[in-house]
Amino acid sequence: MNVLVVNSGSSSVKFKLFAMPEQSLMASGHVEGIGIGNSGSRALLVCSRPGMDELKEEFECQNHSGAVKRLYEVLILSVPPVAGSGKTVDLIGHRVVHGGERFFEPLMIEDDVIRELESLDELAPLHIPINVMCIRECRKLLPEMPMTACFDTAFSHDMPIHTRLYPVPLEWSEKYGIRRYGFHGISYEHAIQQASCLLERPVDSLKIIAAHLGNGSSTMAFDHGRVLDTSMGFTPLEGLMMGTRSGNFDPAVFPFLMGKTGLDVPDILEVLNTGSGLLGVSGISRDMRVIVEKMDKGCQRARLAFDMFVHVLRKYLGGYLFALGGADAIVFTGGIGENSWRVRQAVFKPLGGLGLVLDDEKNRAMTGGGAGCISADDSRAKVMVIPADEERMIAVSAYKLYNKKKPPADLRRRPS
Ligand code: ADP
Repeated sequence: MNVLVVNSGSSSVKFKLFAMPEQSLMASGHVEGIGIGNSGSRALLVCSRPGMDELKEEFECQNHSGAVKRLYEVLILSVPPVAGSGKTVDLIGHRVVHGGERFFEPLMIEDDVIRELESLDELAPLHIPINVMCIRECRKLLPEMPMTACFDTAFSHDMPIHTRLYPVPLEWSEKYGIRRYGFHGISYEHAIQQASCLLERPVDSLKIIAAHLGNGSSTMAFDHGRVLDTSMGFTPLEGLMMGTRSGNFDPAVFPFLMGKTGLDVPDILEVLNTGSGLLGVSGISRDMRVIVEKMDKGCQRARLAFDMFVHVLRKYLGGYLFALGGADAIVFTGGIGENSWRVRQAVFKPLGGLGLVLDDEKNRAMTGGGAGCISADDSRAKVMVIPADEERMIAVSAYKLYNKKKPPADLRRRPS
């Protein structure tokens, strides 16, 4: 059976098509540039199939519905139907960024679920409407197609109460659900499973500190089978410095800035979400590759952005080391975590005194999708790189849910 995974972001839709239960990748790609510019902007669709030339096309795309529609058309044309069902897609798994208090495990999407998801808009106004638009478009294109939703907040839903609450009046938490939800859960679940395979130890025997560093970045402390803490909170704005997000920021600055600039709360939030982080500090780019390149050429603002990124990251990792009372492994994933040996090197530079030491050669070599250990043999914790593969996790859980059976044994296969 073929499972199509749809992973929609603010201006993109990523997709992967898996043959299940083998988990073999039949096609993957993305549509990017959706809804940028004025009405009817041009978006770019990229579709790859193993052993075939990459397909690229620009097309008129109003919004995410248009992106999903075109993506499906291209998929039907380029992937032959499955022998048994006669269809190219048998099941669709959607990534949904926020499940609120209501949704904390994967579920089949029925019409009432779509309506309930819409009611979560105010928790994630940038993401939920887009997720729902993609779900609705799939429903329109393929009314009979079974679909599942996987929630990015689910993995951290059960954090202990003392780490999930903010130290604000308890009534705010009880009455309005003000709590730390945490995000990137699908990625963390995958990274932790893979780390446990590499360590050859069961997940519930491990203390793991993980960092998902991409355009959005976060950290997670994992304690014997349970999430102890994570850096993103009520929204994905909290925590680390990110590509364009500020991460932690003193809310008392709001009235001060409003008085000085005339900006209102939504304006300031917009800047904290889209004009801060690496981009805001460097004034150059949100992309770590560009930051490092400019820094090496002597750009002081790029150096500042890099140093700030590393410092905040180190603070979180260090905090978790104390909170957990040590760690068996420290895991890096996401575009920066997987590829930037410079960031990893900078994080660990002063940690020799704690016995946390990278193997410089292994660290430099670990880029471009490799998985494995990059710490020195005598390091007190293993440091690992695990490539993110949220789509595979979603495909496995969609398949499992649809067939109402346990995950295939090879879910816990070793990273290749
Ligand atoms: P998203 O959070 O949108 O899923 P990714 O996890 O793919 O994004 O991460 C994208 C980011 O990864 C880029 O913006 C860039 O900063 C970083 N990145 C990708 N490749 C490299 C590299 N070789 N070196 C440093 N940073 C990289």
